[in-house]
Amino acid sequence: MTDKTLLDDCFLHDKDRLRHDEALAILKDRLSPVASRETVSLADALERILAEDITAPRNVPLADNSAVDGYAFRHADFETTGGFFRLQQRIAAGHATDIALAPWAAARIFTGAVMPPGADTVAMQEDCETHQQDGHDFVIVPQGLKIGANCRKAGEDVAEGAAVLSAGHCLRPQDLAAIASTGRARIDVYRKLKVGLVSTGDELRRPGDLMNLGDVYDSNHFLLRGLCAALPVEIEDFGILKDDAALVEVTLKDAASRCDVVLTTGGASRGDEDHILKALDTLGKRHMWQLAIKPGRPMMFGNIGASAFLGLPGNPVAAMVCFLLYVRPVISLLAGSGFCEPQGFEVPAAFDVPTKKPDRREFYRGYLGTDETGATVVHKFMRDGSGLITGLREADGLIEIPEEVTAIRRGEPVRFLPFSGFGIR
Ligand code: AMP
Ligand code: MG
Repeated sequence: MTDKTLLDDCFLHDKDRLRHDEALAILKDRLSPVASRETVSLADALERILAEDITAPRNVPLADNSAVDGYAFRHADFETTGGFFRLQQRIAAGHATDIALAPWAAARIFTGAVMPPGADTVAMQEDCETHQQDGHDFVIVPQGLKIGANCRKAGEDVAEGAAVLSAGHCLRPQDLAAIASTGRARIDVYRKLKVGLVSTGDELRRPGDLMNLGDVYDSNHFLLRGLCAALPVEIEDFGILKDDAALVEVTLKDAASRCDVVLTTGGASRGDEDHILKALDTLGKRHMWQLAIKPGRPMMFGNIGASAFLGLPGNPVAAMVCFLLYVRPVISLLAGSGFCEPQGFEVPAAFDVPTKKPDRREFYRGYLGTDETGATVVHKFMRDGSGLITGLREADGLIEIPEEVTAIRRGEPVRFLPFSGFGIR
């Protein structure tokens, strides 16, 4: 059996190229987390990856407390008093008392205030009437409240000792709120990975530079920088490399010695001016190249020493699709949160594709809409061409068409991978 991971023939047929699922299996199989740990304050922990399991050292909330502004009483006293209670004390949030509720008495209480010993039920102030008699304050509580009404129990959010979050979780605002509620101020997270970005091509210029005939502005740098912003990484920019074999080799060696991940765009095929493949083969090891996908066939993965190497095609559409499909899960795995696969769902196609080549998986740029009946459908960006950034901008996800499909008719279900499922907008 041929080792498909060492394919180096660019005249291969799609059926001999590495399939998408095989590529994912190689990435999962040959990589393991590399990020070390650091302790950070909760204020700096958003979107970081948790490196410890968090359990609650105490109940949240700590004590039974009132869910409303109102009057706390002992439910068993209701029958004796008929709902007519003498007001004994006043308790505001942050001012807990250990004075027990006297028989047939109620406490004026406010939202979040700890229930006085003996009280088990709270009536909302809107439903009560207050009353003065012989210099004393009384409250009339309505009928029909169940025992425990309007009272939050200690530990009802998280009980003491319960698991709150596990290592590997990427921290969202609501997770930080949960950790804060347990009292933790500093937590262990994985260090951000260092990602080196390299653009290649004699024709490339950075925006702001003068342009000559045939030049192209380096959009991919900003595309990849933006896509990386949703991941726990720090970027080092290695700039634009001329199509010069020696320069490419020396720069990739330097980048690999300084970064956990080296990410290049362009020069990934077998043209005379493409030097990435040879540099990878010279400096490290190639694990995959030439995938049976469209766009993104020249996608490359390997390692240079301890650094993971991902070579993206130069066309912006292919670069973005390959980043989402392969680079994002690789970075996520190396960074400590596991190999993340996108979430998707089936939705009827609002387009026809009369013929599609078999044996390769295709990813179209898609956007959701509604048909004449109001049902959700997915549209395909109709212009082909993997240089068209417009299609990326108009899309809100990718349409994934499996290898065996050879045509799509309007109304047939297709798989849609919304950008939100890749953690971007
Ligand atoms: P290559 O993969 O180097 O053969 O490039 C394929 C196409 O993508 C060519 O038209 C390049 O000009 C274009 N391209 C390569 N790199 C970039 C980049 N960083 N930004 C925008 N276009 C690029
Ligand atoms: Mg090039």
